[in-house]
Amino acid sequence: QTIGENLHETAERFPDHEALVDVAAGRRWNYREFLHDVQSLATGLDRLGVRTGDRVGIWGPNSWEWVLTQYAAAEIGAILVNINPSYRQHEVDFALAQAGISTVISSPAFKSSDYAGMLRAARPSAPELKNVVLMGTPEWDALFTEPDTSRLASIAAGLHADDAVNIQYTSGTTGRPKGATLSHRNILNNGYFIGELLHYTAEDRIVVVPPLYHCFGMVIGNLAATSHGCAIILSGPGFDPRAALRAVAQEKATSLYGVPTMFIAELELPDFGDHDLSTLRTGVMAGSPCPMEVMRKVISEMHMSEVAICYGMTETSPVSFQTRSDDSLDRRVGTVGRVHPHVEVKIVDPSTGETVPRGQAGEFCTRGYSVMKGYWGQEEKTREAIDPEGWLHTGDIAVMDQDGYAQITGRIKDMVIRGGENIYPREVEEFLYTHPDVIDAQVIGVPSEKYGEELMVWLRLRDGAPALTPEAILEFADGKISRHKIPRYVHVVEEFPMTVTGKVRKVEMREEALKILD
Ligand code: ATP
Ligand code: MG
Repeated sequence: QTIGENLHETAERFPDHEALVDVAAGRRWNYREFLHDVQSLATGLDRLGVRTGDRVGIWGPNSWEWVLTQYAAAEIGAILVNINPSYRQHEVDFALAQAGISTVISSPAFKSSDYAGMLRAARPSAPELKNVVLMGTPEWDALFTEPDTSRLASIAAGLHADDAVNIQYTSGTTGRPKGATLSHRNILNNGYFIGELLHYTAEDRIVVVPPLYHCFGMVIGNLAATSHGCAIILSGPGFDPRAALRAVAQEKATSLYGVPTMFIAELELPDFGDHDLSTLRTGVMAGSPCPMEVMRKVISEMHMSEVAICYGMTETSPVSFQTRSDDSLDRRVGTVGRVHPHVEVKIVDPSTGETVPRGQAGEFCTRGYSVMKGYWGQEEKTREAIDPEGWLHTGDIAVMDQDGYAQITGRIKDMVIRGGENIYPREVEEFLYTHPDVIDAQVIGVPSEKYGEELMVWLRLRDGAPALTPEAILEFADGKISRHKIPRYVHVVEEFPMTVTGKVRKVEMREEALKILD
């Protein structure tokens, strides 16, 4: 099936069920109206000259316009290119040229980002760019014409599930973002299986907080929703913890999404208790290591008794591991669950490529329908990531137990080797979360003459807590974790350097640490 065929099917089955709610804009659609507007916009894009295989850029924060564009582009087989909303001039120039984008749909501006101005400035260096349409302008309104259903049907007849439908950029946590080319088969099936494992029915209402530009928003969110007839509820353009909880209460949502840092911010709100979250049943935490303490609180304090952890990456559409609601509590907070349907997995010794025995750490590799077609225009990088047998090498270190439950111990790039011993920052971070004054802890390796590397921890502390010194950390940790895992350096911060997807950029922390230690 293509994304378009799937949407038509859902709209036929659940015409009166709500499909999309944009809380900030105060607008809502049921599936009948949603399909109508998707087809209307698809017709408008077709008249604008957008053809199957053309790249359509979408640039802006979460909004109903974003969602309609996603489905309208898929309807006519255009390849949607998700442009990171935090990009500035140089980066957008690069993205436009690299993906050969011919049409861009964008918000005029959001917060400090003047998208309209940057797109104007980008024109001279983007010869393939023909159309720029800014949401909310008369040009945007003009795209919504009476759907030409016979024309759309003839375009749809020429589409195939294996066609590219999306170029999604990775978060850029470890370096420059890479554009993964994904097909209908890749992301539609992944969205569907995610929803299956969450037991979604057409009664579910999902508050999608993570950015739509990222696979968390547009696949785990939108495609899981539309393949099961659920409602997509957008809590607002950027992340605002209070707006997220208000959206849950106001829309009687059953499911809430976020990366760990978002759930931490919601739980920390002084008026957390004033929001009625009693309709929540499930949700997804994903994107970076999910601290056990936070998972426990989400289950017990946010009514999300069935909340799942998902593990995956943009390159695998994205999810390849997921916890199930009937897993034991320890596994639901302490592992990323078991492998997804139709996905193969192996854990290998990165130096030899041999599969390691269960219980031993190694690099996670996945294979199956969900592996991307490749990095757009970067064959070299694609060959580095996907080997000739089709295995995608994730760069993540994992351990799998006898029953198939996996734990992600961290990224190969973040592992610290101190005096010849491998230390996974994740393990030290989990331990530091148990300190009563610690809100969030991030551990990195810094150069050391004596040991090669030493541990440094960056801490966010509760209001009014005294600054923690290395001595205080030593006293707290001594006897509880091995001596070599106790951070030598402590740095207290208000915030960590973050990606738009809410991930901590340890590359940046490592650069900053060099200056601090200098
Ligand atoms: P880049 O590849 O540009 O450096 P990125 O890897 O963060 O950025 P994404 O594709 O958005 O880009 O994220 C995938 C990565 O996120 C995974 O490889 C993994 O390191 C991490 N991740 C995702 N889910 C989890 C999880 N549940 N637990 C631990 N880590 C996770
Ligand atoms: Mg990555």
